Amino acid sequence: MYDLHVHSDASDGTEPPAQVVAAAARAGLKGVALTDHDTAAGWEEASAGAVRHGLLLIPGAEITAQAGPVSVHILSYLHDPEHPGFAAMSSAVRRGRVARAQRIAENLGRDFDLSWTDVLAQVGPDATVGRPHIADALVSVGVVADRSEAFARLLHKGTKYYVAQQSPSPSEAVAQIRDAGGVPVIAHAMASTRGETLSTAQLEQMVEAGMLGVEIHHRDNTPQGRRLLKELAERHRLIVTGASDYHGAGKPNRLGENTTDPEMVRRILEAGSGTPPVGEVSL
Ligand code: AMP
Ligand code: FE
Ligand code: FE
Ligand code: ZN
Repeated sequence: MYDLHVHSDASDGTEPPAQVVAAAARAGLKGVALTDHDTAAGWEEASAGAVRHGLLLIPGAEITAQAGPVSVHILSYLHDPEHPGFAAMSSAVRRGRVARAQRIAENLGRDFDLSWTDVLAQVGPDATVGRPHIADALVSVGVVADRSEAFARLLHKGTKYYVAQQSPSPSEAVAQIRDAGGVPVIAHAMASTRGETLSTAQLEQMVEAGMLGVEIHHRDNTPQGRRLLKELAERHRLIVTGASDYHGAGKPNRLGENTTDPEMVRRILEAGSGTPPVGEVSL
């Protein structure tokens, strides 16, 4: 019972890290990885919560990358967030996220009564900004009922308001994660409802760059996509994970709806060297 992909309000989750860890304990999980977008800001609070509840906490992040039109999310476990190359990559992405969100908000402001101040009011101190915060702002000014409606109508890639995010290539992100002692695992690689996905050749390139695992059991991966990822994992003896991608009240995804085998958790702990986990794997 390990859920290796959860978000807190250090990025676009709706609950503080301590609350996420407490909820994981209540859900009967033995461990979680906190994987906020492009930040380690929630680690300290989550670690304290893990000690309190006797859970394994794997410090992690979900790293934003881009391959042409395809947005790629790479989970990183146990990296050192202060490793120079990694830190430079993350801070550049965080800065780019603010500029990009501001442009999307400006675009929306032409048609709706929405300002950048409304968006900022939805972002916690030190949190990584993302479209979910714009969604929350649209809810706050009464344009939509919830995040799902905001994405479906106004925030998805096909709208006239959309602006792409400046991000490193997947192979560059993977290399930086490895340099920082982290374990790179591609997140929801076959989530075709989110837009275009990477080709097998592109996934193979990421393996060549040092990618160590694939998140297969995720609600957004299609059945056919899961088969493809399983074949890739078998070909390269990759780590295979499952996770909820919990965002608190921001998404319907529930903690523990998909989980990772203890054996795979052990492989992650063995492969990572940038930051130690809190607690250990238990059966
Ligand atoms: P961004 O990081 O700004 O590109 O925004 C992407 C984030 O939006 C993802 O991390 C998802 O958590 C969230 N997201 C995407 N689609 C939806 C949706 N339909 N409802 C709620 N959140 C979503
Ligand atoms: Fe998210
Ligand atoms: Fe993601
Ligand atoms: Zn996520």
